[in-house]
Amino acid sequence: MADAIAVLNAGSSSLKFSLFAQTGTDLELVLRGQAEGLGTAPRFVAKSASGDTLCAHDWGEGAQIDHDGALAHIVAFLQQHAQGLSLKGIGHRVVHGGMRYAQPVRVDRAVLQDLEQFIPLAPLHQPHNLTPIRLMLEQRPELPQVACFDTAFHRAQPELAQMFALPRELHDEGVRRYGFHGLSYEYIASRLPHLDPVAAKGRTVVLHLGNGASMCALSGGRSVASTMGFTAVDGLPMGTRCGALDPGVVLYLMDQRGMDARAIEKLIYNQSGLLGVSGVSSDMRTLLASGEPRAALALDLYVYRIARELGSLAAALGGLDAIVFTAGIGENSAAIRARVCQGAAWLGVTLDEPANQAGGPRLSAADSPTAAWVLPTNEELMIARHTQRQLSA
Ligand code: ADP
Repeated sequence: MADAIAVLNAGSSSLKFSLFAQTGTDLELVLRGQAEGLGTAPRFVAKSASGDTLCAHDWGEGAQIDHDGALAHIVAFLQQHAQGLSLKGIGHRVVHGGMRYAQPVRVDRAVLQDLEQFIPLAPLHQPHNLTPIRLMLEQRPELPQVACFDTAFHRAQPELAQMFALPRELHDEGVRRYGFHGLSYEYIASRLPHLDPVAAKGRTVVLHLGNGASMCALSGGRSVASTMGFTAVDGLPMGTRCGALDPGVVLYLMDQRGMDARAIEKLIYNQSGLLGVSGVSSDMRTLLASGEPRAALALDLYVYRIARELGSLAAALGGLDAIVFTAGIGENSAAIRARVCQGAAWLGVTLDEPANQAGGPRLSAADSPTAAWVLPTNEELMIARHTQRQLSA
């Protein structure tokens, strides 16, 4: 019977899962799926590694399926479909590991309590991430669980890269630049030596362009700077998040518009970014297909901000050997990749447009001084690997 690892990624209204089987030295995806629309119109779908639907279930509008119910459904599904596999543990995606967790950690009640202390640092994500851990600790205390953090990969950044120019005691208290999407960057860093050995040893900027978006400077495969800061709202404009914002704007909104923290939170997390600027959609595909001038403006601002952050990260690295595109937009939009590469021409990127249209993996011309690549990310596999490592440690 082969060993297996389950991976859970819990969001506010969805619970994604995947199952990996041990094959020799690595792990192979067996199936994946999600329960989504929790609290509104819950539905469940599971697919095999090759994309065939194994099970689809719609509970219907208004059905009272919460995270607890969704988890029970997923556990029952896995028990049915993991025949011939022996489940050794569960790996969880947890957005915030605070200052303390620079590595994945095996979770018991004490660690869970610790992770609950980081809820104020990521109030929109952390509570949901921790819910399935708590439920599994109650229901299956014998099953090992490992928390893998989006912040952990960045903890090795130089202290300067983690600092705000605020009074020192705030830094010591934990008000610092954490950086996120670390599991994605760690996965890309693990693939880079196979793709581009020079860049893997040298200076690379990875562009994780999904609904959430950030960029990370890698030096020799280690994170040295990132666009996200204290929270996942900093840096690039995203689907609905504003990205970098002068804190004076927040003060203005409080003083002149009478907005409180919750109203500003809603504005900067849910109503800004591509959605706010375009007034059309947060979805890149919709914007690219739209003829609305405001959709075009949102795309212009998106690409402009990426180009500026790229210059900043190249400065942090002292030069640039490669850029790597990943996540939904980075992996799929040749148009956005082409525009970003145009903005990076001064950094030595020369695009091979047919290669870009064909989806890479190499996007840059053979004589391009700086390489450009596209590489699909795989955060779930990274979590499964970490979980396996923790269990065998
Ligand atoms: P999340 O951060 O939720 O994991 P994804 O990495 O799945 O998000 O990225 C979602 C984004 O990717 C959306 O804006 C979507 O429009 C965009 N996207 C997906 N496929 C394409 C495509 N073929 N062309 C342009 N954008 C795409």
